[in-house]
Amino acid sequence: MTLNENDKKIIFDSIRDIHDFPKPGIVFKDITTLLNNKQAFKLLMDHLEERYKDYNLDYIAGIDSRGFIFGAPLADRLGIGFVPVRKKGKLPSTTICEKYELEYGFDEVEVHLDAFNEEVGCRVLLIDDLIATGGTAVASAKLVKDTKADLVEVCFLMNLDFLKGVPKVEKIAPVYSILEI
Ligand code: AMP
Repeated sequence: MTLNENDKKIIFDSIRDIHDFPKPGIVFKDITTLLNNKQAFKLLMDHLEERYKDYNLDYIAGIDSRGFIFGAPLADRLGIGFVPVRKKGKLPSTTICEKYELEYGFDEVEVHLDAFNEEVGCRVLLIDDLIATGGTAVASAKLVKDTKADLVEVCFLMNLDFLKGVPKVEKIAPVYSILEI
């Protein structure tokens, strides 16, 4: 199911640009103004439910932290489980982790070793609000695959196309992004 142009515009217009946050030169895409807009939030969630209802998914994995905001309610709508992919040091049980490069230095994402209940080949959708360079999503996608789950698709609300992150993720799994920016 594709989103019609009018609904896409309502969602796009609900996202606020904050210039020079968190540092000079960055335009931060602020989704808080989407979340407190009940029409835009519902349109987005309806679209995600419609798209993924026939994918026979077993789990939604959401990327820390804004991937949780869309991933958890989507999992609930689809009647399936939700798995948080977290930044290093937040998960309490045994984890596997994946390092990725930032502009300056490295970061790590983690998932519980038993996050998908050791169901080999379970069907997983990975979700985040935005893809920029793709570092976070590539590391998260690798983690899901390391658990022996079947990563069916990686979904983003927004793709900052000029940063060329999507082709990197596409080497691991198919990508769907709703808004191209
Ligand atoms: P990257 O690893 O470079 O693809 O960055 C993606 C992660 O950073 C996502 O979790 C986004 O939520 C966040 N992010 C990166 N750039 C922006 C931006 N311009 N506005 C909002 N969030 C961003």
